[in-house]
Amino acid sequence: MTTKTDFLVIGSGVAGMWFALQASQHGKVAIVTKAQRSESNSRYAQGGIAAVWSEEDNYDNHVRDTLVAGAGLCRRDAVELTVREGPARIRDLIAFGTRFTRAEDDPEKYSLHREGGHSHRRILHAADLTGAEIVRALGEACAQHPNIIILENHVAVDLITENWLCRRLEEIPPEEPRVLGAYVLDLDADEVEAFSARAVVLAAGGAGKVYLYTTNPSVATGDGIAMAYRAGARIANMEFVQFHPTCLHHPKETSFLVSEALRGEGGKLTSWPGPSTTSSSAAAWNACTSTCDTWNGLRWSGCSPISTRS
Ligand SMILES: Cc1cc2nc3c(=O)[nH]c(=O)nc-3n(C[C@H](O)[C@H](O)[C@H](O)COP(=O)(O)OP(=O)(O)OC[C@H]3O[C@@H](n4cnc5c(N)ncnc54)[C@H](O)[C@@H]3O)c2cc1C
Repeated sequence: MTTKTDFLVIGSGVAGMWFALQASQHGKVAIVTKAQRSESNSRYAQGGIAAVWSEEDNYDNHVRDTLVAGAGLCRRDAVELTVREGPARIRDLIAFGTRFTRAEDDPEKYSLHREGGHSHRRILHAADLTGAEIVRALGEACAQHPNIIILENHVAVDLITENWLCRRLEEIPPEEPRVLGAYVLDLDADEVEAFSARAVVLAAGGAGKVYLYTTNPSVATGDGIAMAYRAGARIANMEFVQFHPTCLHHPKETSFLVSEALRGEGGKLTSWPGPSTTSSSAAAWNACTSTCDTWNGLRWSGCSPISTRS
């Protein structure tokens, strides 16, 4: 069976649902997602989103902070684009119904946290369940839109490319082959369906779950990256994997992120069992150092699979 749609979106995290809401103005959108619609890294994000929001802050500050924290690894044009578009995208999220936490002393304003690496207050958040709140708002907007369907328990297996079809039909492949759709396993029916679409969007998230200890949910297995690679896309920057320094470890239970409030603003580090504590800025610095150590450890132990295909 082949299902036809205008846009096929693989993944129902923030990226997939955001794209679906934009594309729904131009045609029918099918989102396929491998578990329940809300199961994604997006749902587990806690601390919030950085954007220039207060009158004391400006784009130059945020660009500078990002380039300093990026230690020479950031592309300036990408940083500037992200920083300048940030406030408008936050306003879009609010328009879609996201309820960010308001300031205690002035409910007309939003509460802005300040986290490690930021010279100004600019983290908008929904308590410390920011991702869950954004997923709720976007999920409701998608569910209400007549042009969007979300198919749960549908695992995209591989992309259908012109190259692949030509191999099957023993025809000469085009010089610039297109992606035509995807094969998707319906877990409930235990059947593979073909989807054809004018455009296919891979929004299948990251690959954090390839590590034994991670705060990522079990859906984060890098499927989208693997499908893109098999279709001939160039893969880069695979060494950038986010590790949270405050992950609960229990040998028999799934790891999860202990509240970011522990090491964000107001967080205190306490030695065990001693009384020594550090201030919130020191906590943020230690958290940052710990992340860098993890990153360097991976890097120097050879886990740096930057692979490119020409
Ligand atoms: C614990 C935690 C805390 C975080 N805190 C923050 C924070 O405070 N601020 C911040 O900016 N970022 C934070 N992040 C990072 C942020 O959550 C992610 O960068 C972001 O949500 C990624 O969104 P996404 O839509 O690209 O991917 P995801 O949200 O991971 O969505 C991927 C989707 O693809 C689906 N999928 C995967 N494979 C397939 C397949 N084969 N077929 C069909 N569907 C598939 C998944 O089920 C899921 O629905 C945090 C992440 C975690 C894990």
